[in-house]
This record gives sequence, structure tokens and C-alpha cells, in this order.
Amino acid sequence: MRIPYADMPPPAAVRALRGRPRWPFAAATVALGALGAVAAWRFGHTMAGGPTPSPDGTFTAAQMARHQDYRDGTWTMAVASTVLGTAAAVAVAATAGRWAGPVAHLARGRAWRAGAAFGVGATLAGVLATLPVRAAAYGWGRHFGLITQPPGGWALDVGKATAVSAVVSAVAGSVALVAVIRSPRRWWAWLAGAGATLVVVGSLALPVIIEPLFQRTHPLPDRALAADIRDIARREGVDARQVLVNDASARTNTANAYVSGFGASRRVVLFDTLLRDFPRREVRVVVAHELAHVKERHVLWGTALSAFAVLPIALIAFGVTGRRREGRDGVDTGLVRVARAAAVVAVCGVVAAPASNLVSRAMEREADATALRVAADPEAAEGLYTRLVTTSLAVPDPPAWVRWWFGTHPSPMERIGQARRAAGGG
Ligand SMILES: [Zn+2]
Repeated sequence: MRIPYADMPPPAAVRALRGRPRWPFAAATVALGALGAVAAWRFGHTMAGGPTPSPDGTFTAAQMARHQDYRDGTWTMAVASTVLGTAAAVAVAATAGRWAGPVAHLARGRAWRAGAAFGVGATLAGVLATLPVRAAAYGWGRHFGLITQPPGGWALDVGKATAVSAVVSAVAGSVALVAVIRSPRRWWAWLAGAGATLVVVGSLALPVIIEPLFQRTHPLPDRALAADIRDIARREGVDARQVLVNDASARTNTANAYVSGFGASRRVVLFDTLLRDFPRREVRVVVAHELAHVKERHVLWGTALSAFAVLPIALIAFGVTGRRREGRDGVDTGLVRVARAAAVVAVCGVVAAPASNLVSRAMEREADATALRVAADPEAAEGLYTRLVTTSLAVPDPPAWVRWWFGTHPSPMERIGQARRAAGGG
């Protein structure tokens, strides 16, 4: 019996990838420059961090030692998870010469089916590679008393998150493989368009479709607080109809709040742990901060910048994986190219993290400044940032590499310093 593709030696797939144009890198550089210029124009005024006071005197030595212990573990696991996830994508690409033929055969030569199978397979490879570290992080959080979710619920959440990623990757893989085969010279444009659409649709759908899979929300039961929130919203000139409370206490002892979606799907969600463990004055500051994100259109800006960032990444993926000199790729060689492009996208995501965090911190500083002005209670703001450190076992002044690679918010001491300056003190 002759097994199709089984006799295809990897060099054939490699030969098919030759012919790498240089212009995509030049175009990607121009696109990155434009992206940086727009981000700097909009958020440049809050990109630099403010002065950071010493944590001594605010937190005890015993607190700092315990928080450092906890965070040394979480930082190590975050690095391990990033490295393993990226390594999985690279390994899938490196072995593509072996599995591409059989996958093409199983999909009966249909590009959309083969692309979807690749998306699901790549997601599973990434999840399997990082699962031990995620399980360790769960155990670590339970050990320190931050995570309250039982193992069954945690496993179910991992399963649901994997299913969501698999569906998104299946769509992305399908579109990518069809584009690579049908448009050998311009598939980067299809990839950029589809990727940007996915980012925008994802941002709109997140609060309506994805978040309800992982949490329950209900309207704010506290009428006095609701009236307070309406007052803050009026002063910020935003609509506060959609302020909800979730059931975070079923999973965590940490407190948080966030704003997601835009247009009709926009909402502010407060963790029930915030209402349970934090004084009312501090909750007001949190609400003022979240509504400032709404007022400054941060979700819209974040979505737009991310959608545009897909273009240079698609161009780099095109530049690295090249194109066929003559004719079209088959489903098999196309799969090799898509797997390599996916690995390039994964590496780009890691490399871009510091830039993305720089913009995120700028948005957070802007929201903090507005919250200080509107809530007009710097003492409560300082209390809030201090309590967030103790309740989440945060390190008040993390090292530079942590701030650059994982710091979506200014460091706690920077925020405390900002609140103190607003109060007129040191
Ligand atoms: Zn924020």
C-alpha cells in the first residue's frame, strides 16, 4: 500500500520555501514606526514613570519577605510558561516537514480543513507544554491562600480556555492556509486583515461571549454605592449604567476591577472581593479609575493599536517564511509555511511584550491621575494601593525586568508616591 506524502522528504518542503523578498522587513519597520508614533502622540505624556518612594515604613520587613517569596515563585513560573509556550510553537514549526503530509492527507486536500486542524493541534501543543507550570502556579496560589478555587473548577476553566483558544486558532489557521495557497505573494495582507478583524471582534465579544464562560455577574446590590458611582460617572462625563459585580470570591481572595468591551458591550466589572474586603472610600477610587478608562477610551485605543500591530507582525512572518517562486503551494507545503508563520507570530508576541506593557502603564497612569482628581480623596487612593499590595502579596517595587516584561500597571510604590504628591505630602 502506498501512503501518500509519507515518502516526501523534508528537504522538498524546505526547497519550496525558498525565495525570500526583503521588502516585507522594510515595510514592517515603517509600520512599527507609525504604530510607535501614534502611541507616543496619544500616550507619550504618561509613558515615563514618576518618582518611586521607598517601601520601608509602609510595609514591614516580614511582609516584604513573604511577598518576595510568593512573587519569586510566580515570576519564575511566568517566565517558564512564556518560554515553554514559545518553544512549543517553534517545535511545531520545526517538525512541520514530518506532519504536514499526513495532515494534508487526513484533510483530504482541503485547505480550510487542514488549516483548522493545524490551529487546534498547535493550541493543544501549547497547552500541553505549559500545563505543568500552570498547575504549579495554581498550587502555589492555593498554598499562599490567594486562590480559593477547588481543583475541579480550575481544571474545568483550563478546559474551557483551551476550547476557546482552539476555536480561535482553528479560524486563524483556516484563513492563513487558504490565503497562503491562493495568494502566494500577498497572503501577508490577508493575514493582517483577518488578524485585525479577529482582534476587533474579540474585543467586542469578550464581555458578551467569553467572560460569561468563566464568571457570573450581577448588578450592584448596594444602592448607596450605586448612587455614588452615578455621581462619579457624571463628573467624568461617562455613562455608568453597566457597572456589575462578579463572583470572584469563588476563585480568589485578591481584589480587582476592570472595564471591557466597547459600544453596546462596554461594562465595568467590580470583583465581589473588592466590595467585601475594601473600605467604601477605596472602592470609590477604584470606580473612578475604571470610569476614567471609559472616559479616555482606553479599550478602544488598546483594540485599535493591537489591530494595527497585526500588520507588521504579518509582514515579518511573510518575510521570514518567504514565498514560492513559481506556482502555488500545495496543502502540505502551505501547512509548513503556516506553521513557520505561527512560530514567528509567537516570538513576535514575546518580543513585543515590553512595548505593549509600556502603553498599558501609560493608560493606567492616565486613569490613576483622573481618579485622583475626580474622587478627590488621595488618602483613600494611598490606602487602596497599599491594601492591594497586602491582599495580593505584591512586591511594592519589583525589579526592572519584571516591570518591563510583565508590568501592565505602574509599580505599587509609584502609585503610592503619586497619591502622596496629590495629597501635598512627600
Ligand atoms: Zn486600570
